[in-house]
Amino acid sequence: MGAITSARELISSARRIATFSGAGLSAESGIPTFRDALTGHWARYDPAELASPEGFARNPELIIEWYNDRRRTLASSTPNAAHQAMADRTGLLHVTQNVDHLLERAGAEQVLHLHGRIDSDRCHRSCGYSESIDISDPPGLRPCPQCGAQLRPAVVWFGEPLPEEVWNSSVEAVEAADLLIVIGTSGVVFPAAGLIDQARRGSAAVIVVNAEPIRTISDITIIGSAAEIVPQLLSA
Ligand code: NAD
Repeated sequence: MGAITSARELISSARRIATFSGAGLSAESGIPTFRDALTGHWARYDPAELASPEGFARNPELIIEWYNDRRRTLASSTPNAAHQAMADRTGLLHVTQNVDHLLERAGAEQVLHLHGRIDSDRCHRSCGYSESIDISDPPGLRPCPQCGAQLRPAVVWFGEPLPEEVWNSSVEAVEAADLLIVIGTSGVVFPAAGLIDQARRGSAAVIVVNAEPIRTISDITIIGSAAEIVPQLLSA
């Protein structure tokens, strides 16, 4: 039996399915993965510099300009066939590391964003202020209207803790699932990637769909493009 047929069987017999996705899910929408994002003008920077509180402290204008570049790219992107298939299959709970909102734009209802969302800014001093922004015309560096500290993208940077409530809900979701479908993630960014082991400990089966092999232990691994494979797995 082929891997796709076996995966479809696992999916049709599962009662609670969760997905865990990363940048590879959005690659075919034209959103670069972390590795590919650092091309062109940005190739000379280190991601740890661009996506870290230390980098923001050193050069806030540069960091905001990098995010605004990514925001404009996202504004002109659309969900791909993988997002659409995930949204169309009702009852799935999606845990994503992606800071884009392409799953929601495809119509997905239950999406947990472990690393925040790029379409909002928040106060860097954490006074509680946040606002959604127009990603097609994002504003530059500016002060928090509530406390005067700087505003920054409402995403989780290297070295920062994950939002506690979202993390707890994600752990609950993968522990309650009997099947976890892992899509487009290298599985090396922790603690997020730890959810795959957590799902296995909760005795879920694991299907991986990724462009290259990843280290995670899985029941079925399908190497290929998300937009090609995921619709084949989730269509009725
Ligand atoms: P990653 O870049 O580490 O890994 C992406 C994986 O996807 C790679 O293993 C790659 O082989 C695979 N891939 C690439 N194109 C694919 C395709 N078309 N179909 C299937 N697989 C494909 O990304 P990550 O695991 O998400 O972790 C990196 C961090 O970067 C995360 O914290 C995430 O928040 C952040 N990030 C998010 C976005 C986004 O929101 N779209 C984009 C870039 C980075």
